Amino acid sequence: ALIAATTALPSALAAQTPATLKLRLLETSDLHVNVVPYDYFRDAADDTVGLAKTATLIKAAQAEAKNSLLFDNGDFLQGSSLGDYIAYKKGLKSGETHPIIAAMNTLPYACGTLGNHEFNYGLEFLEHGLAKAEFPLVCANVERVGGAPLVDPWRLFEQSFEDEAGRKHVLKIGVIGFVPPQIMQWDKANLDGKIVAIDIIDAAGKHLPELMKSEPDLVVALCHSGIAGGERKGMEENAALHLAKLEGIDVILTGHQHLVFPGAKAFDGIAGVDNVKGSLHGKPACQPGFWGSHLGILDLDLEKRGERWRIAGFRVEPKPIFERMADRKIVPKAAAEPGVLASVRTDHEATLLY
Ligand code: MN
Ligand code: MG
Repeated sequence: ALIAATTALPSALAAQTPATLKLRLLETSDLHVNVVPYDYFRDAADDTVGLAKTATLIKAAQAEAKNSLLFDNGDFLQGSSLGDYIAYKKGLKSGETHPIIAAMNTLPYACGTLGNHEFNYGLEFLEHGLAKAEFPLVCANVERVGGAPLVDPWRLFEQSFEDEAGRKHVLKIGVIGFVPPQIMQWDKANLDGKIVAIDIIDAAGKHLPELMKSEPDLVVALCHSGIAGGERKGMEENAALHLAKLEGIDVILTGHQHLVFPGAKAFDGIAGVDNVKGSLHGKPACQPGFWGSHLGILDLDLEKRGERWRIAGFRVEPKPIFERMADRKIVPKAAAEPGVLASVRTDHEATLLY
């Protein structure tokens, strides 16, 4: 009877006061095989790039938060001399691990999406790369000719989080991904007859209803697409603002433009865009620069009234790995994380020789 009385008390309180739960979403995007803080052309250290540095911000951001989820927004598999060394010299056979995948596997990515550059070296290279990823990838607007998925259009994660009163709640987090459909022109030689890419908003219309049937508490769009104003005509390369209008989508992680949101001047004055708070049509959104320059941090205050969770408030911060002073001097804001560096050491050294 004593046990029953003590366990009954918190639930009786819960019925009166809404549960509040802080969930921190973290975003990397457009890494382009930048892992080591190194400029291969100048053959010198470079404090402005590298997942090894972003990883230090990731670990600090996770340590500060009770609940967090890390996402990557695509364009990881192409770029930098390290990427060129793998694509043009060493190759990527079945069973081999691409250095960007090795580096990402050292971090607790919950999920990623595909960027347009994932298709640059053909489907076999991409499939060999993805096969070794220890995190799932989603993309809703690309499928194989004939209708088979290349990767899942969306995933539902059921995860236990702790609220501000220390109580556990299992939340259902839906994650859906998108890539610019222009891949069909940009990588025509690789994709013709193999892959079909459709409009991002049309793909959301096709797949979001299925995702909503599983009654997610929160839906995060991993949108490897940027932020642009104007009327929708269809097949937009930068469709994030249109995506934010859709009911069901709660948070939009953006990328592809290699810009910082909120903050970049390019986003000033676009209707529906809050370039200070970091929102698209009122929904939290971020874009974390490129090559690991920033970590996107989206702090959500979730509130449960009855059976429904909702976003009661949010703060968005694209946190940089360096600061550029007025005299253009670079001041580093993060050290390189040793585990990430170690994961690519052999390929990094081979790239220096190459
Ligand atoms: Mn990119
Ligand atoms: Mg891109």
